[in-house]
Amino acid sequence: MTVPVRVRFAPSPTGYLHVGGARTALFNYLFARHNNGVFILRIEDTDRSRYQADALDEIYKSLEWLGLDWDEGPGKGGDYGPYIQSGRTGLYRDFADKLLDEGKAYRCFCTPERLAQVRLEREKAKMATGYDRCCRDLTAAQQMELLDKKTPCTVRFKIPLNRKVVFDDIIRGPIEYDSQVLDDLVLLKSDGFPTYHLANVVDDHCMKISHVLRGDEWIASTPRHILIYEAFGWEPPKFAHMPVILSPSGGKLSKRKGAASVMDYRQSGFLPEALFNFLTFLGWSPGEGDEREKMTRDELVKMFSIEHITPKSAVFDEKKLEWMNGKYMEERSSSSLVNEVKGLMKDKSFLNGNTDDAYLETVIGLLKSRSKRITDIMDNGGYFFKDPVTYEEKAAGKYFNAQAAEILKGISGELSGLAVFDKTTTENIFKKIAETRNIPFGSIIHPARLAVSGGSFGPGLFELMEVLGKDAVVRRINAAIKVMC
Ligand code: GLU
Repeated sequence: MTVPVRVRFAPSPTGYLHVGGARTALFNYLFARHNNGVFILRIEDTDRSRYQADALDEIYKSLEWLGLDWDEGPGKGGDYGPYIQSGRTGLYRDFADKLLDEGKAYRCFCTPERLAQVRLEREKAKMATGYDRCCRDLTAAQQMELLDKKTPCTVRFKIPLNRKVVFDDIIRGPIEYDSQVLDDLVLLKSDGFPTYHLANVVDDHCMKISHVLRGDEWIASTPRHILIYEAFGWEPPKFAHMPVILSPSGGKLSKRKGAASVMDYRQSGFLPEALFNFLTFLGWSPGEGDEREKMTRDELVKMFSIEHITPKSAVFDEKKLEWMNGKYMEERSSSSLVNEVKGLMKDKSFLNGNTDDAYLETVIGLLKSRSKRITDIMDNGGYFFKDPVTYEEKAAGKYFNAQAAEILKGISGELSGLAVFDKTTTENIFKKIAETRNIPFGSIIHPARLAVSGGSFGPGLFELMEVLGKDAVVRRINAAIKVMC
C-alpha cells in the first residue's frame, strides 16, 4: 500500500524567511504537487526566547509571493490543526507524560548553573559536551521530594545506550549513528514548552507526515528523532536532507554573503517566477541528458523528484539569478509589470504629471528586454520621465561639438514643424538631413540620442522620440544645443 504524500514546511518565526528556507519550502511544495499530495505549513514557535512576532507575517507574505500555497496550515485549516505549535502545548505535555510513565524519559532537576559547570568541565576534559545524565537514575522517592519542594525541572529523553541508529536518507543513502554520541536531550523545558525535538516528532506523527525534506543542518537531529519515534512505537517518516547552499565566494550562505530574505529579492526587482525557478536548481536538476535550466512552474512540478536532488552543495550565483530574471522579464507582458514598477519606484515623483499607466506600459515595453531587474526600468529609464540634466561624460566629449550643434539646430527646426510625430516621420527627417548634408547617419543619431536621453544606450532613437512626443524632444534638443555652444 502506498502512503499518501503529506509534507510540511516547518519554519520557526525567529527572523525573516531567507532564500535557504524558501528553497526548503519550494522542494516540499514541488514534491507534494508532483505526487498529488498535501503541502502543509506548520509554524514551530516553541522557542519563545527567539520568537519574533513580525517574522510570522513575513513568512506568510514570502510564501504567498513565491506562489507556494499551502493546503493545510494557518489561515487554511485542515484536519490536523492547530498548525501553530504554541497552540498545541497540552498535546506535547501529554506525550512527554507518556514517556515518563513508561520510563523512557526522566525529570532533570539540574540548575542552569550546574549544567554550565558540567559543560565547562567536559570541555576541559575534551569530552563531548552533553549532559552527564546526573538525574537519569534518581529514585522515585528522590524525585517526589524534589517535586514537593517545587524544584523546577525539565523532562529529558532517555537515549537507549549502546545502540546503532540507522536511517536511509533518500538523498544521501544509509546514515548510521552510535547512540553513545547522542545526548539525553530535553523534551520539555521548565516553562512547560516542548523543545523543537519533541514538538517536531509529535507533530510529524500526528499530522501523518510521510516525508521530511529539510536542510542538512538537521541530519544530526534525525537519529534522536528516530529514537523518539521508536519510544512511542511510531513508524518514522522517510527522511531527505537537502544540500547546503554556498555563497559564490565559498562558505555557507549567510546574510553578509547574499542570503538575503525573499522579500529583499522582491524589493531589489526580482520576479517570483524567476526566483522560484532559480531556487529549484539549487541542488536539483531534471536529470541526465536534460540540460534545461529555465523551466516553468508546471514543468518543474511535472519533473520534480527527490532522487534528482544531489547531496553536493549548491552555489548561490546571483549573476545567474539576474540572467534568469532578465529572461522572465522579457516574457512578461508590459501591462503585468506596471504595478510592480510602480511599487518599486523609489522616486515617486516620476508618477507626477502625465505618467499614467498607459505611458508606463509603453516605457516598460521598450525597456523590459534590456533589463535584468524590474528596478532597472526606473534606474535606466529615468529620461522617459524627466529631461536630462547631465549627459554621459565620455559620449558628450565625443559627440557634442559645434558641428553637432549645427546639425541638431536643423533637426530641431524640422521636427518642430511636424504635424505627425511618429517614428517613421522623424526617421525620414534624419535621413533627409544626412543626405542633403552628405554626412553619415550615425553622426546625427549619436548626438541626438545623447541630447534626448542623456545617455548613449537604450531603445531605438525613433521609438524613443515617438514615446516622448514632439514637445519634449524639441525642448531637449534645444537644451543640449545650448550646452554644446
Ligand atoms: N523549525 C525547524 C526550522 O526552523 C524545522 C526543521 C525541520 O524541518 O524539522 O528549520
